[in-house]
Amino acid sequence: MTAKSFHPPVRTLMGPGPSDVSPRVLEAMARPTIGHLDPAFVSMMDELKAMLQYAFQTRNELTMPVSAPGSAGMETCFVNLVEPGDKVIVCQNGVFGGRMKENVERCGATPIMVMDDWGKPVDPNKLEDALITHPDARTVAFVQAETSTGAQSDAQTLVKLAHDHDCLAIVDAVTSLGGSPLKVDAWEIDAVYSGSQKCLSCVPGIAPVSFGPRAVERIQNRKGKVQSWFMDMSLVMGYWGGGAKRAYHHTAPINTLYAFHEALLILQEEGLENAWARHAHNHLALRAGIEAMGLQFVVEEPYRLPQLNAIAVPAGVDETAVRAELLNRYNLEIGAGLGALAGKIWRIGLMGFASNQTNVLNCLGALEAVLSDMQAPIQPGTAIAAAKSVFGAG
Ligand SMILES: *Cc1c(COP(=O)(O)O)cnc(C)c1O
Repeated sequence: MTAKSFHPPVRTLMGPGPSDVSPRVLEAMARPTIGHLDPAFVSMMDELKAMLQYAFQTRNELTMPVSAPGSAGMETCFVNLVEPGDKVIVCQNGVFGGRMKENVERCGATPIMVMDDWGKPVDPNKLEDALITHPDARTVAFVQAETSTGAQSDAQTLVKLAHDHDCLAIVDAVTSLGGSPLKVDAWEIDAVYSGSQKCLSCVPGIAPVSFGPRAVERIQNRKGKVQSWFMDMSLVMGYWGGGAKRAYHHTAPINTLYAFHEALLILQEEGLENAWARHAHNHLALRAGIEAMGLQFVVEEPYRLPQLNAIAVPAGVDETAVRAELLNRYNLEIGAGLGALAGKIWRIGLMGFASNQTNVLNCLGALEAVLSDMQAPIQPGTAIAAAKSVFGAG
């Protein structure tokens, strides 16, 4: 067989990420590649960094995009802040807390697990108990927005608890950044990482990170070298640190950074608070439609993430077949459950560019049609009207 140019089908991405990418971002990515030390590229990097500080709501100097996916942002935080022999309290309420545990172990440190059920937020009382039982712990890590379940944890409270017990806090904001409130400086988060392809609606492959003053101090006082050469912040900063002294560290993914710059510009133009409000509003409309159909959310109301809607699969329904129908017939991608929730839920993402009225209505219409065809136990003919009543007559 002779290979041909690859032309992907045009889909609507309403899963756990990647989310739909704006045509503006794709167009930016197709601009000419220049050198990664070209003065024009370097000034683009300076702008990008300022916009990233805005997105994170931080003045942290050590704020930059790691040239790799969100998982590498996670690993960057752990390898720089955790040393062999450390104790790290990891709060787990879904898939990604489990990955944090892996990272801690691979740093030669001991994870102390604080477990909550999948679909529940992290319980601050359990964290406090663990901090009291382990006064020698140096770091607390948790996921603010658990994409595997759609549950949101109270980052501000958890960070404060960590500080009250002389620990630094590492926060996973992969799904929260740009979609729901995250205030790195106001909440005094020490280290935070995210990904480009969730609520920032950029192509995948970039992991923004930011380190606060306590984290920088810890990095400077490390006993040994960071075990990862690529992710060692003290080395990467020679490239991202700014000024005329920028030196080669690795070849930046030039065109992906054009795309990321454009995605951050779109966020800045909209305004962060407006983006949070848009995600919240579209979630309420989707919710009205889902509940009118008779389907149920997995997460209790106050902890639901607007950008990741976990819906229970009704009894007797083949969840894989539903997703396949949505993809094949409607070009619509939604997510499956993971881990403890595999086969039990669907995950409908309303992230970034994909969080809009058209997608909410199309998704409800398609889901209702597919479920009706399968004789699933739903109430047909009500979802669109319920969602429209949230959007208003206009
Ligand atoms: C997607 C995600 C990650 C991993 O990001 P990748 O870009 O897939 O490596 C980590 N944490 C959370 C909460 C996520 O949703």
